[in-house]
Amino acid sequence: MALVNEHFLKLRGNYLFSDIAKKVNTFRITHPRQPLIRLGIGDVTRPLPPACIEAMHKAVDEMADAATFHGYGPEQGYDFLIEAILKNDYAPRGIHLSPAEIFVSDGAKSDTGNIGELLRWDNSMAITDPVYPVYVDSNIMCGRSGVLEENGQWSNVTYLPCTAENDFVPALPDHRVDLIYLCYPNNPTGTTLTREQLKRWVDYALENDTLLVFDAAYEAFIHEDDVPHSIYEIRGAKRVAIEIRSYSKTAGFTGLRCGYTVVPKELTAATLEGQRIALNPLWNRRQCTKFNGTSYVTQRAAEATYTPDGKEQVKANIEYYMANASVMRRELTAAGLRVYGGVNSPYLWVGTPEGTGSWKFFEQMLYNTGVVSTPGVGFGPSGEGYVRLTAFGTHEDCQEAMERLRRWLK
Ligand code: PLP
Repeated sequence: MALVNEHFLKLRGNYLFSDIAKKVNTFRITHPRQPLIRLGIGDVTRPLPPACIEAMHKAVDEMADAATFHGYGPEQGYDFLIEAILKNDYAPRGIHLSPAEIFVSDGAKSDTGNIGELLRWDNSMAITDPVYPVYVDSNIMCGRSGVLEENGQWSNVTYLPCTAENDFVPALPDHRVDLIYLCYPNNPTGTTLTREQLKRWVDYALENDTLLVFDAAYEAFIHEDDVPHSIYEIRGAKRVAIEIRSYSKTAGFTGLRCGYTVVPKELTAATLEGQRIALNPLWNRRQCTKFNGTSYVTQRAAEATYTPDGKEQVKANIEYYMANASVMRRELTAAGLRVYGGVNSPYLWVGTPEGTGSWKFFEQMLYNTGVVSTPGVGFGPSGEGYVRLTAFGTHEDCQEAMERLRRWLK
């Protein structure tokens, strides 16, 4: 008899998006003539940059010819992409990494979900709240989160609230924890940490022998100078941090799938006897065993984002979304709402009117305007009293949504 991993049974169904879908469906049936505008989902709407399309066509042709065909590639990623990453994402910021420290993958979700395999199941952990759910759920699956307590929190997880009251800057844990997930620019709040604020986390990790998993999936949306693009801009971070990046939102790869993870050679964790073990060879071993590489065609597309044309086109896509974000910030603020994010990120975190919960405001917005948001409480208890709107729609939808919200909130 095969015994099941019972930790999976502890997972709460992720009802957030299915609950939203049900409510939206009911609305459609009862309001068949009101066109919906979906500003709730985190998927992009702009097509892939032409440079990526061109690179993929070329790569497909190579696959059609025995002389240029590519079979299994290196599990860690092709040199051409790794070199482009080092040269474009890190060297210009004064960060020197070696090719063996980069692991190309099929996206940041897999890597954020899998990285915990390198660590014993009983490490203590901390997350910011609200949070991208993968960090918690992947740890529930291996038993690291502990047991679910009456207050809805996991016994082995320290929750670090991020609310308007602390300007969305989480306080350092008041005790030591082994593992902390950070995501900046943040999904869902759209807020960031300055260099000085991120340095406090690196210093905490150095002092407490804590491993930081830094999810930089939205790095390309940073517009302000004082916001670090990489955690390795902070001195000492290579000894304590893994960084995870994605081409999904940067270049529209949500359906194509490519990202990468940086595991510096200096980074170590301990055995129970106190021996220090480098995590880089462990992650290499994990990837070689369980992952057979991102497709050649996809990696050529990712490489094309770093060509002069590719860079221009990626920038244009990001500016497209950020133009939406700026219209949304302006209009929602003018309508009297408290609006956060949307400056260095495609997410706007909107405070609900006094006394109105996330779900209530979600429904009011839906029924009065046909605009779909995401209730903030779905991302964690500290998300109560907020909804998330994304800037990933078309300009036309975004303008129309703001017009409807303005009329409603007048
Ligand atoms: N990390 C964060 C914070 C995200 O919001 C997302 C996607 O929404 C991901 C990772 C997943 O990115 P990918 O498409 O590369 O798997």
